[in-house]
Amino acid sequence: MSDVSENLSVVLAAIHNACVRVGRRRESVELIAVSKTFSCDFVREAVEAGHLVFGESKLQEAELKIAASPSGLHWHFIGRLQRNKVRRIMQEFEVIHAIDSLRLASFADEIACELGLFPKVFIQVNIASEASKGGFSPETLHGEMESLLALKRLEIMGLMCIPPAGPTAESSRPGFVALRELRDAVEARYDVKLPSLSMGMSGDYEVAIEEGATHVRVGSAIFGKRSYQVDGELG
Ligand SMILES: *Cc1c(COP(=O)(O)O)cnc(C)c1O
Repeated sequence: MSDVSENLSVVLAAIHNACVRVGRRRESVELIAVSKTFSCDFVREAVEAGHLVFGESKLQEAELKIAASPSGLHWHFIGRLQRNKVRRIMQEFEVIHAIDSLRLASFADEIACELGLFPKVFIQVNIASEASKGGFSPETLHGEMESLLALKRLEIMGLMCIPPAGPTAESSRPGFVALRELRDAVEARYDVKLPSLSMGMSGDYEVAIEEGATHVRVGSAIFGKRSYQVDGELG
């Protein structure tokens, strides 16, 4: 047995406390338990502890896990979206977190149309313009937002980012603030609502909540240290 249930309680309490600190309602934050690299036994433990929302970053691994897990769970795809896997990902997952280009968004929109789906998606922003990371630069997002909004099938919930890794949780704060401010600017300029912000991982989710995260993607703080890296993981 692992400490999943205990770790979950710790994370849930920290989420609660972060909400209290900044006067947010607890229901405004969704915890996505990132189970990538962990077996379905870990997922089951979390489910037994009452948790139903999971994140995966590789389709093949996720398909096996989803098939072996109880039905009624909510699966979020948080990895890099490859064109040849978009169709299956849309069929298996409730939310896609990392639409990283207009080209990919248009393609996903076509597939959604074929499948008769209206998938919930986040637009990934490369908030610090790092060469190693994918996503829209803030400038590109401003320039392409109108085209993104013209895609009839994608339900754009909001923006997602992974700020540069720093020595402390506080190192991520400027990136979180920048994503929120970018969201506010895009909302005002295009007269749209982008209510959700997917930001914050094990090392910095409390700071992310203080800065407005509605979806935190937390893996190792719940399931333990990952023993291997996932190919195609977002950098
Ligand atoms: C792996 C991963 C996470 C979870 O990372 P932890 O540090 O283990 O919490 C969150 N978001 C993305 C995009 C990931 O690839």
